[in-house]
Amino acid sequence: MAKKTHSHDELKCSFCGRPESQVQFLVRGLYGAICNDCIEQVYEIWTEETKRQQKKFYTEKFKELKPKKIKQFLDQYVIGQEEAKKVLSVAVYNHYKRLYSNVVADDVEIEKANVLLVGPTGTGKTLLARTIAKMLDVPFAIADATTLTEAGYVGEDVESILTRLLQAADYNVKLAEMGVVFIDEIDKIARKSENPSITRDVSGEGVQQALLKLLEGSIVNVPPQGGRKHPEQPFIQVDTSNILFICGGAFDGIEKIIAKRLNTQVVGYNRVKNAEQIDRENLMQYISPHDLRMYGLIPELVGRLPIITHLDPLDKDALKRILVEPKNAIIKQYQKLFELDGITLEFEDAVLDYIVEKAIEFKVGARGLRSIVETIMTDAMFEIESHDKKLIITLDYAKQKLEEDKAKRLKFI
Ligand code: ADP
Repeated sequence: MAKKTHSHDELKCSFCGRPESQVQFLVRGLYGAICNDCIEQVYEIWTEETKRQQKKFYTEKFKELKPKKIKQFLDQYVIGQEEAKKVLSVAVYNHYKRLYSNVVADDVEIEKANVLLVGPTGTGKTLLARTIAKMLDVPFAIADATTLTEAGYVGEDVESILTRLLQAADYNVKLAEMGVVFIDEIDKIARKSENPSITRDVSGEGVQQALLKLLEGSIVNVPPQGGRKHPEQPFIQVDTSNILFICGGAFDGIEKIIAKRLNTQVVGYNRVKNAEQIDRENLMQYISPHDLRMYGLIPELVGRLPIITHLDPLDKDALKRILVEPKNAIIKQYQKLFELDGITLEFEDAVLDYIVEKAIEFKVGARGLRSIVETIMTDAMFEIESHDKKLIITLDYAKQKLEEDKAKRLKFI
């Protein structure tokens, strides 16, 4: 199409003044017009401004964080695990303090410190990481270390963890760079032998090496993987320096290593008094970087996880509290569901004890509480319109429903 000749009454861009004939197109408004080039520039300014405001928002938010405040938030969702909540609160506080204060320019550079949560499965490790991300309102991604492989092997590359984080951040790289990543089952990629030269477990060690790169803080090339917004870009560069990595693992059998170390130390230094003070029932609380190395984590990786804390197994009391206390407790959720139908739902206290006993009997822990409650409640929910204004779940009713269903469903938990 031939360009129009420039005439004085021709419509001009109100921003750059160029006439319609010299630009690709003009968008008309009530009081003027804007050309495609100016739209692009305004868009860039808007994007930069949004990012700046976002950064300001987070900086202000992070500045307000104090360890006690973080723990109070965790308390609303996570029952017990006092030690882990305390340690994590301080770690998160220090991590984000690094982020908003420009400490790098000073002579003391605060190193990035990631966290390792050690404890049996279903005790709240993922929940802790997820709750931290929820409180900070930053992108969050979960990865399972067992599915990861070294580049070039069948399986997921470690970079895929960051792809997930980018997706959670809707491809806002700056936001992703402030996010939280939880890597579960880190113990499963341990080297099988403490001495690498005897039986070399290449895959596990290779993944550990690959993870190091993410954990230590570097620029990583991340494949966007179907990211609609960057089809032309083969990789997105993500700086992991400010991403908080929380790793979790059950470390089955590590107690033996801990016991051995404690004994030799105690005997070696002849500190009998200390030996008496050791709580043999829960050795996990004494876990040290040395134990992790003996278990098969490479020293470099252990070095990148300087904050280690443990989670305790959940006892009856903790399980009962989990049923009713957290902000989104299972019982509260069912009560809400019934409330939406105008019904007040109540559980006899004995029912709660019964649910907990069954969770212990079936060895399903906290994770199984929901299925048990669901089994008890299915019929009551099916007949939702036939209830009065108030429904009380009695022990007999709960027992009957669970017995009826046991053969069918619970065996699959
Ligand atoms: P882990 O990561 O340690 O294997 P999760 O955090 O995934 O365990 O816990 C599984 C589920 O059990 C959680 O989603 C939560 O509902 C419940 N749960 C476990 N531990 C706790 C806890 N300490 N406080 C509250 N709920 C818990």
